Amino acid sequence: MIPLTDPAAADPAAGAAVKAADRAHVFHSWAAQEVIDPLAVAGAEGSYFWDYDGHRYLDFTSGLVFTNIGYQHPAVVAAVQEQAGRLTTFAPGFAVDVRSEAARLIAQRTPGDLDKIFFTNGGAEAVENAIRMARLHTGRPKVLSAYRSYHGATSTAIGLTGDPRRWPSDSGTSGVVHFHSPFLYRSPFHATTEAEECARALEHLETTIAFEGPATIAAVILETVPGTAGIMPPPPGYLAGVREICDRHGIVFVLDEVMAGFGRTGAWFAADHYGVVPDLLTFAKGVNSGYVPLGGVAISAGIADTFATRPYPGGLTYSGHPLACAAAVATIRVMEDEKIVEHAAHIGETVLGPGLRELAARHPSVGEVRGTGVFWALDLVRDKETREPLVPYNATGAANAPMAAFAAACKRNGLWPFVNMNRTHAVPACNITEAEAKEGLAILDGALTVADEYAG
Ligand code: PLP
Repeated sequence: MIPLTDPAAADPAAGAAVKAADRAHVFHSWAAQEVIDPLAVAGAEGSYFWDYDGHRYLDFTSGLVFTNIGYQHPAVVAAVQEQAGRLTTFAPGFAVDVRSEAARLIAQRTPGDLDKIFFTNGGAEAVENAIRMARLHTGRPKVLSAYRSYHGATSTAIGLTGDPRRWPSDSGTSGVVHFHSPFLYRSPFHATTEAEECARALEHLETTIAFEGPATIAAVILETVPGTAGIMPPPPGYLAGVREICDRHGIVFVLDEVMAGFGRTGAWFAADHYGVVPDLLTFAKGVNSGYVPLGGVAISAGIADTFATRPYPGGLTYSGHPLACAAAVATIRVMEDEKIVEHAAHIGETVLGPGLRELAARHPSVGEVRGTGVFWALDLVRDKETREPLVPYNATGAANAPMAAFAAACKRNGLWPFVNMNRTHAVPACNITEAEAKEGLAILDGALTVADEYAG
């Protein structure tokens, strides 16, 4: 077990009370309510959080991949406090200084002509509204999305989602058609090079569109770099190819940057790495590090024009909430002032990337390392040759024991890991220090020896 970091700060009785009220009254996401055992959190700062028993954890998850500037950044906390004192809330139909400024700062950073911002409370609502805009703009019903994807849990967003969390909510009536996005390590196209994977994935998308009927398709939506589904940076040329296909068929191209945006990949937006401008770009999470819920859609001139004289039929009571926008303004300024995006790129190139590849070389359970910036996946396998995943797709219970053992080993040694199916993702704050990143790598090294027992 990790040592008590600060025994004097421990307050197990308070922790027990928090836990008891949680268990009695909080209904948790994605969970069988009586099976879960949520850790009671006493506080957080920077890249760490701690419990009421005095155990401290290095957060290699950034919450749910959203605390891009770490916990409790003093400048953002102060900005939220200042805004609360000045104007806590205001209805969305008015022009409000922090809302205007947040929109201006975001539009300045989004690629190309994505210059109008529709604010939402989070990622799923951003996706919902992007798809609504695409359908109204084109007058077409269907949307294409990737099997290896997550787009949120509201009804359209969960329909678009490829991962198994969709299944219980999928009535088959969402108008979504799924297709295979490129993923060379587990190629759905039996490709052996990135160029081959790219060409075959584009041909597959083209064929899917041809058979569905291009004139029935409103949008293609992709995560620029798929996140929860496994952090698969697309091969060079793929996104440009999708852009070209969409243009040829009058289909709206939506990039979902809810997870990949705002510094995570070492650029403001992952699309910047590929020189591609979508028609709509969804964001949330890193826009204000989740200090106050905020998401949105960045809208191109062409789609904004559709709603120039025709009302947009969608809205939210808290669209552009002043507290959330104040947090966004402060977060973006902090990211500029402290060069946090550049830091994310640097730490990825010099510490996380090389460090994770070095772990992969030594551990039989690591099949592949993928990523960029502070956005990395380790694909864990039983056998490096066959690439058989360490646990089966969507495994639960005993079948998931190897990943559960790996996660427990991380926690015992003071690292909170992101674990999804047979993968662990190293997704710390964008401003994690070199020493903290190395501490995380050392703990992963130890935990991988546990995973190794199931491999080879
Ligand atoms: N899109 C992507 C790519 C995401 O990763 C997520 C959440 O993880 C969402 C959409 C949904 O965002 P939210 O949970 O804020 O609704």
